[in-house]
Amino acid sequence: MKFICTLCNYILEEAQGLPEAGIEPGTKFDSLPDSWHCPDCAAAKEYFQSCSCVSLPVYEATKVATGTKVAPAHTCK
Ligand SMILES: [Zn+2]
Repeated sequence: MKFICTLCNYILEEAQGLPEAGIEPGTKFDSLPDSWHCPDCAAAKEYFQSCSCVSLPVYEATKVATGTKVAPAHTCK
């Protein structure tokens, strides 16, 4: 399962985790500490939504510059 930050479109994939941030591959999003936030824009977990995109990196195509508060609505493809 993938989760996308609705503020900057950063995508976290559970299967890949975020080793550099101490998140082991396979870690469930729900298991992340409540203090976890988007590594790109610092948005809280509540700003993430599940994403079922089959082709990545969508992130690169939809990434919104840091500091831009409103990202285009993400639509899974
Ligand atoms: Zn973000």
